[in-house]
Amino acid sequence: MSEWWNKQIHRADQLIPKANGSKELLKFYAQLLRAQRDIHEFLRSHKNWLPSGDLQADLPVLNDALPGFLTVIEAHGPPALAAEAHDLSQAGPQVVAERLMAYWSSTSDIQFFEKAFLQPYLRWVAQSGARPIGREVSAGERYCPFCGGNPQVSFLQNKETTAESGNRDLICATCLSSWEFRRVVCANCGEERPAKLGYFHSPEFDHIRIEACDTCKHYLKGVDLTRAGFATPLVDEIDAAPLDLWAHEHGYTKIELNLVGV
Ligand SMILES: [Zn+2]
Ligand SMILES: [Zn+2]
Repeated sequence: MSEWWNKQIHRADQLIPKANGSKELLKFYAQLLRAQRDIHEFLRSHKNWLPSGDLQADLPVLNDALPGFLTVIEAHGPPALAAEAHDLSQAGPQVVAERLMAYWSSTSDIQFFEKAFLQPYLRWVAQSGARPIGREVSAGERYCPFCGGNPQVSFLQNKETTAESGNRDLICATCLSSWEFRRVVCANCGEERPAKLGYFHSPEFDHIRIEACDTCKHYLKGVDLTRAGFATPLVDEIDAAPLDLWAHEHGYTKIELNLVGV
């Protein structure tokens, strides 16, 4: 069960030495992934307990993973996040619970701490066969069918598939699961006209492209695993942070910011 986390961590460690413009982001993400893996492991090994998917009911168990998580953010996070982690560690469980519940009912990509802390929980909810309860879930093909979250990144892979769905998948920013999505469609507004959909890529990141939409002016990154099978979309997406600069300069807004705020 740790295998998935270890794969992400290994990829981050591999990219750090050669990172160009994203080294600090990757270093932080590598530590964050370790902390998330520890939360996942902690929940998974909790005796005689499985998550109900009702965050309120599951919080007493989840709370025990909090101090360790905050310690990592305080030690490795950028100054603003480190200060926030410090404040939260002083604030007590009630304040933290209120913040987590607010995020749970209505997610936001600028609530870093909540998003990072709940990803491993939601992953374990999914793996253990429960469903999230008490969330406002947006319906529609561009939202995660499990939790209703936004796509963080898309990826292409070789697999048997129907012509209709193509071979593109989206990874959920909230619970990290993935779902199939049509290939030439904006993952934000559903635009299908090829003339409105733009792709940008730079030789520096051969297997990654910006997938932008001129109708809603949103974008996300796509990672082509058919060209780089060793890549992991969530980590490679962060490594390619310089491409986000291009997107911003051209007036595009990311569908959802990642955990390092890019
Ligand atoms: Zn999800
Ligand atoms: Zn769009």
